[in-house]
Amino acid sequence: MKFLKKLCFVFLFSYGVIATAFPQEIGRSVYLYAKKIVDTLASPGMHGRGYVNDGDKIAAEYIKGEFQKLSLQTFGDDYYQQFRFPINTFPGEISFNCNFCSGKKTLSFKGIAGKNFLVASSSPAINSSFSTIVFDSTYTTSSKKFEKFRKKIKSKDVFVIVDDRGVTNKLKLEYFKKVKEGYFGTNVIEVVIKLIWRMSQSVEKCVKIQVLADSFLYTMKGHGAIVIENEFIPNHTTQNVIGYVKGTEFPDSFIIFSAHYDHLGKMGKNVYFPGANDNASGCAMLLNLANYYAMPGNKPKYSIAFIAFAGEEVGLLGSKYYTENPIIPLRNTCFVFNMDLLGTGEEGITVVNGSVFKKEFDTLVAINAQNNYLKEIKIRGKAANSDHYYFSEKGVKAFFIYTMGGIKAYHDVYDRPETLPLKEFENVYNLIIKFTNSLQQP
Ligand SMILES: [Zn+2]
Repeated sequence: MKFLKKLCFVFLFSYGVIATAFPQEIGRSVYLYAKKIVDTLASPGMHGRGYVNDGDKIAAEYIKGEFQKLSLQTFGDDYYQQFRFPINTFPGEISFNCNFCSGKKTLSFKGIAGKNFLVASSSPAINSSFSTIVFDSTYTTSSKKFEKFRKKIKSKDVFVIVDDRGVTNKLKLEYFKKVKEGYFGTNVIEVVIKLIWRMSQSVEKCVKIQVLADSFLYTMKGHGAIVIENEFIPNHTTQNVIGYVKGTEFPDSFIIFSAHYDHLGKMGKNVYFPGANDNASGCAMLLNLANYYAMPGNKPKYSIAFIAFAGEEVGLLGSKYYTENPIIPLRNTCFVFNMDLLGTGEEGITVVNGSVFKKEFDTLVAINAQNNYLKEIKIRGKAANSDHYYFSEKGVKAFFIYTMGGIKAYHDVYDRPETLPLKEFENVYNLIIKFTNSLQQP
């Protein structure tokens, strides 16, 4: 009895230590730190981490502050690697409204920026009233018919409504595409089922507006008013944020963790793109991994660098600049693990370059199976869709992982911290650490 009691006590005690004090505590702190980072980076004060109100700079300063707290080492005087690029921005007023005649009734579209319309980021400034004409399938039956559409364009202020929903014929879709791309030199209203914003480094001659199909009921005859204020910045200065932990056995061999911290910024005074999943979540993983490897008990054998890339949404600019001006020689860079969109995971993860570096992919899959972390690890080939790309193009082994399932918000105003699940975050974190440790075996 006594013996049993003692055994029970020992069992309970060790169970308590293992099950409560260790994994749950660590897990909880990983989640809480991730939540704090996502909430901060996606907050209104970061202005969408773009190029209005210095959003990118504020975000870089925040990440730099976290690197300092974790005592990451710098390669030069500080954590920054600066570079420049041109960008079109919208810091001022934006409004867009239309009315359409429907018999005796009027169909009104009241534009709510971000919610039912977007201004394409290549758009110039405009302040005018306009009339609308509709480009429809009847102009897509032959090139002759297509050219006839030009006759409908009576003034340069006209907006052409382009709506290719329901069109499946490839040839016809080509004609629609031409109009959207400005073939007739007109302003364009594109009817879409989902609003998706992207950045532009140039200013086009014509305005392009995306309108959400559900809220945009149009007829052949319409008119409206539009105001767009843009500011083209020819030489914006931004920065990659780079720190590292020195390896204990092979300090000259580097593993790089990367995640871009920039997002789309603001469209007008009042609308900002929070970018919680894209990519505050990846930054949250980057900083959690930095926190892990900076701890005295977890010092890695190889050196590990942590890079928060800038300018990704503009076209992978930060990683392009880095690989052209590498701070760590590329030949000493053993592996790059790029993380972008890590806030979900209910359906597992996808590994871009998985089929390019199959041995490493198989190791990742085996670790996942042994530990039961994630539902699925999907394999993908090469794709120029995040910051891993220029590394693997230059012969450096690189993975890009993103999580699947959960919320569908993407490059819109709904990518918000309060709806980001982060449920699988800790499993992804543990998987990455075990995989990274496997890379350091001699
Ligand atoms: Zn992204």
